[in-house]
Amino acid sequence: MRELAYLRPDDAASAVEAVAGNPAARFVGGGTNLVDHLKLGVTAPELLVDVRRLPMDAVTETETPDGPGLRIGANVRNSDLAAHPLVRSLFPAVSRALLSGASAQIRHQATTAGNLLQRTRCVYFQDVTTPCNKREPGTGCSALEGYPRYNAILGASEACVTTHPSDLAVALVALDATVVVLGPDGERRVAMGDLHRLPGDRPEQDTTLAHGELVTAVELTAGRLPRRSTYYKARDRASYAFALVSVAGALQLDDDTVTDVRLAWGGVAHRPWRATRAEDALRGRPFSEDAVRAACEEELAAASTSPGTAFKVPMVRNASALVLTRLVREAR
Ligand SMILES: Cc1cc2nc3c(=O)[nH]c(=O)nc-3n(C[C@H](O)[C@H](O)[C@H](O)COP(=O)(O)OP(=O)(O)OC[C@H]3O[C@@H](n4cnc5c(N)ncnc54)[C@H](O)[C@@H]3O)c2cc1C
Ligand code: SF4
Repeated sequence: MRELAYLRPDDAASAVEAVAGNPAARFVGGGTNLVDHLKLGVTAPELLVDVRRLPMDAVTETETPDGPGLRIGANVRNSDLAAHPLVRSLFPAVSRALLSGASAQIRHQATTAGNLLQRTRCVYFQDVTTPCNKREPGTGCSALEGYPRYNAILGASEACVTTHPSDLAVALVALDATVVVLGPDGERRVAMGDLHRLPGDRPEQDTTLAHGELVTAVELTAGRLPRRSTYYKARDRASYAFALVSVAGALQLDDDTVTDVRLAWGGVAHRPWRATRAEDALRGRPFSEDAVRAACEEELAAASTSPGTAFKVPMVRNASALVLTRLVREAR
């Protein structure tokens, strides 16, 4: 039996102080990921700091120099966020990404911050009897010679080949969201695209956050974005499955010319993958399904596949074509 202390602070600064000052402390939100890991022995903190009662549970409309936006509290439930009328009208990709994840019960318990910071679903990471550099640095990577279906094809390293599991994160990367973080030295803002990291030789670090930094909110601005966005997830069964690949897309056309486009991929890398090369290849050119496929080829030139992951290249290319042509059809 391991001892586990539990704290439920009244304010965010006390929560930060309690975790930042103790390397063996962890924040807990809905607990749907962390508590599983406690039970499996993947993690063994000495102190859980419960942040669910902190006043970070509202979706607030904001007005920015770039137009209307939303501030989403870190504790907003996935189900509430997916159903929010402003999320559905301004950022449909966010709503669709959330609804494609987990089950209704889990979405009702899971929080915005917890979803972004959930850890990989790599089967070896969750099986403490196997070597895993992410769980136990320096022990090796069982996935290199193991079950490949959920492995990365972009940005992986010899140390870790897993993929990032959050659907919400992929949509937020495409939509240039900002994450608001409170640390011992005050508040800072992190671009969503800079929140998660590639594994390199430190796969145990999922994000660029320091220990003890609390996510307090996520901010989205509609004005800078194409008006239409959506999310598509390819998976082994219709629900309750993580992405083989997923695509968040947003598109703006002037006649048939692409004036703006956003494309982010899930299931292909250790972090949500913003397909900037593909975006650059599409911007300013006439839109067509073939043009999307060709643009994706440019992004995928850097892909490294094995027989078990090669299917992801055509899958993410086709899914990207599907997402962007769907947006064009909706616009007409
Ligand atoms: C069966 C099953 C299927 C699932 N399918 C999907 C899926 O298809 N797609 C998908 O995206 N997700 C899926 N999930 C994952 C689920 O969405 C996550 O478990 C959930 O979003 C995590 O949120 P939480 O609030 O419960 O996080 P917690 O478990 O409480 O925490 C997760 C991590 O975030 C940290 N954390 C929590 N809050 C904060 C904060 N405010 N600041 C800093 N750190 C914080 C914790 O320390 C922990 O490391 C699935 C989960 C299950 C169990
Ligand atoms: S892919 Fe990463 S998470 Fe999976 S076993 Fe290898 S090191 Fe661990």
